[in-house]
Amino acid sequence: MTFENTKLGTKAVWAGEKDYLVHGATQVPVVLSVAYGYDDMDHWFDVATGKAKGHIYGRNTNPTVQAFEDKVKILEGAESATSFSTGMAAISNTLATSLLPGDRIVSMKDTYGGTNKIFTEFLPRQQIEVTLCETGNHEQIEAEVRKGCKILYLETPTNPTVKITDIERMAKVGKEVGALVIIDNTFGTPVNQNPLKLGVDLVIHSATKFLGGHADALGGVVCGSEELVEQIYHYREINWATMDPMAAYLTLRGMKTLHLRVGKQCENAMALAKYLQSKDMVDDVFYPGLETHPNHDIAKKQMKNFGGMLSFALKGGMDTVKHLLPKLQFANRAANLGAVETTVGPARTTSHVECTPEERAAVGIAEGLVRVSCGIEEIEDLITDFEQAFAYAEEKVKINK
Ligand SMILES: *Cc1c(COP(=O)(O)O)cnc(C)c1O
Repeated sequence: MTFENTKLGTKAVWAGEKDYLVHGATQVPVVLSVAYGYDDMDHWFDVATGKAKGHIYGRNTNPTVQAFEDKVKILEGAESATSFSTGMAAISNTLATSLLPGDRIVSMKDTYGGTNKIFTEFLPRQQIEVTLCETGNHEQIEAEVRKGCKILYLETPTNPTVKITDIERMAKVGKEVGALVIIDNTFGTPVNQNPLKLGVDLVIHSATKFLGGHADALGGVVCGSEELVEQIYHYREINWATMDPMAAYLTLRGMKTLHLRVGKQCENAMALAKYLQSKDMVDDVFYPGLETHPNHDIAKKQMKNFGGMLSFALKGGMDTVKHLLPKLQFANRAANLGAVETTVGPARTTSHVECTPEERAAVGIAEGLVRVSCGIEEIEDLITDFEQAFAYAEEKVKINK
């Protein structure tokens, strides 16, 4: 099977599976076996030392997990991919593989909450210097990178304010100083954004989110050149954080509809963003697809579509949030995103729960900021649902005055 001239949707359905089918099955099996047996001692030795293909032990490799890795690899157009138990494991293992005491990493203030904790809490105590720039301030990032760094770590669009950074421009400055350029592409998804084509070295996903798409399996993955991925795989296989075969299967199955889901999620997000802009109770709407977004032009240049994530700031802060969100019928109020169901939550309870109100304000997160991960419901029903919730919240806020 060759995917050279195929579009992403065809790859999403077919890629990575054929090598793993057994007994004429059309679907990849869930292999739960921890170890793999060999009758021929020489063959066993060859597999164990990497001279022949095969599996030895579940912490290292597993056929179901490999099928998942192969599919992501093809979707991202990478030479290689390796997987992890969660997105955070992918991020921390990737950083741990290449950072040593005395090294410097440049990134931005608005990375995912867990990533930000690694930058502010764990790396500094290992004598790794972390410089976090204003998200979207390209000149500042360039200046910091030019002072020299081992890693330039990016995330775009960011969580939850969907700020946009120019990937190609950042990859270029990273190359200038020989830095490893890493990006968290969880929000972009391979449907909308292929950072490897823009010069980035490593692409990371929390597979828990859009790749899996059904909020029922945790996972993470890193894609890039064979050489880099091999080093990260080696660190992970020895240390920890192996992806569970059942999670790999669920994510593999979810990925077959990735293009359909993400396509619909983008459509819904655009329509919902426009609808929210028309509401009196809404101060601000953040969505890269809106022309009012400060970096809409960059988003247009590097993304095929603008993603399923948006956020909006409510007048009256948390008081209004408390009236509005519980009234929504077709939304989970939960700390997740990327699923087929619409999911909502205040940023202060979800992505930025670890931060103080001051820290949130510093990255532009108002206390009444609501994050929306659009699902694949019909948009008319979502808007009707928001409309009745707004009507209720408007009444409540009036009465309380
Ligand atoms: C959720 C998320 C992560 C962490 O992934 P887990 O699978 O929850 O560990 C990292 N980056 C982004 C952008 C995320 O949304």
